[in-house]
Amino acid sequence: MSSHRCRFCASPLSVTFADLGTSPLSNSYVEAEALDQGEIFFPLHAYLCTDCYLVQLPEVERPEKIFSDYAYFSSYSDSWLRHAEAYARMAAQRFSLTAESLVVEVASNDGYLLRFFAEQGIGVQGIEPAGNVAAAAEKVGVPTLVRFFGTQLATDLRAGSGPLAARGADLMVANNVLAHVPQLNDFVEGFRILLAADGVCTFEFPHLLRLIEGGEFDTIYHEHYSYFSLATVRKVFARHRLTLFDVEELPTHGGSLRIFCRHEADAGKPVEERVHQLLAREEEAGLGDPATYSGFVHRIERIKRDLLRFLLDAREEGKTVVGYGAPAKGNTLLNYCGIKADLLSYTVDRSPHKQGRYLPGTRIPIHSPDEIRRTRPDYLLILPWNLEAEIRRQMSDITSWGGRFVVAIPKLEINP
Ligand SMILES: [Zn+2]
Repeated sequence: MSSHRCRFCASPLSVTFADLGTSPLSNSYVEAEALDQGEIFFPLHAYLCTDCYLVQLPEVERPEKIFSDYAYFSSYSDSWLRHAEAYARMAAQRFSLTAESLVVEVASNDGYLLRFFAEQGIGVQGIEPAGNVAAAAEKVGVPTLVRFFGTQLATDLRAGSGPLAARGADLMVANNVLAHVPQLNDFVEGFRILLAADGVCTFEFPHLLRLIEGGEFDTIYHEHYSYFSLATVRKVFARHRLTLFDVEELPTHGGSLRIFCRHEADAGKPVEERVHQLLAREEEAGLGDPATYSGFVHRIERIKRDLLRFLLDAREEGKTVVGYGAPAKGNTLLNYCGIKADLLSYTVDRSPHKQGRYLPGTRIPIHSPDEIRRTRPDYLLILPWNLEAEIRRQMSDITSWGGRFVVAIPKLEINP
């Protein structure tokens, strides 16, 4: 029995979903000058709440520490930009947004999404706690408040001046942030406060059903506090008098949900049939049964043994294996498996903010992708497996020297 309580319903947490040992914060990339210093490792232990079925990590570090110099710039991924552009087109049309409308994005990053609304002449306001990425957003014409979103900020904005205070936001967007907030109830309540009476808010987050089906345990890392099924996320919003009226399944991040919510009193948007259909699918998959969650450990251990066996055999045969990508999920995988530079010589990343640094915990160096063409490794282990197709296209020339692509999740696969 842990001493932790559920961040949504406050019940004690006693059932383990995944115990991944200890690991540094996954975005704390190590500078060359800091290699002779220590790193702080935190427990990475996800629990199931058996009352509301929220899978969650207890908070181990203050969010200000985790997010203040967040190294991830959304605009460095081509596929994510296309996803953002398609969303902006869809939302502008479906919700009839005009020059008088106001779209607010929470965790707006470098403006990767709002700029597509701004290009259509729609009013935008970004909210982003990381100062360095917010500055990048301002440069592409996206006004950005450098604050954490929650009840306090929503209340402050309502008390200010201008259309946001008078009417609220017509569309509020939060992509890949709901899962990252430690104060879940305070965060969701902020949406209720800032959303216009007939407004819509949409959220994207990885779907727990897909995490379980796909063995995607590496999407568990300290910055990612909550792992939602549709059934549980609907309960969370209902408690804040917001009604989940539509849902889409997306391929992003190994399988995500996009949920659409509105005020409980806004009867103009009936609950779509596909909400009920997906709830039924989750029930069929056993998401209402604690045994489904407690059995996940067997999947994780299988993935670890298979990857280690491959790396040890390759090393034995004198083959070289390097990584592609330096995502948070790669750090969970490598730290859990205990893989260091003796088995994976280096990894590469397109983001210049990561190049020249080292992965936290494992201290595997991060180079530019050019290093692969220079050193011609036998195997390229793709760490962001959700971008596998894009990476295989970008790096297709490794086959010219017989290089092969490897992914570890959902199971080890080696492809030409
Ligand atoms: Zn709970």
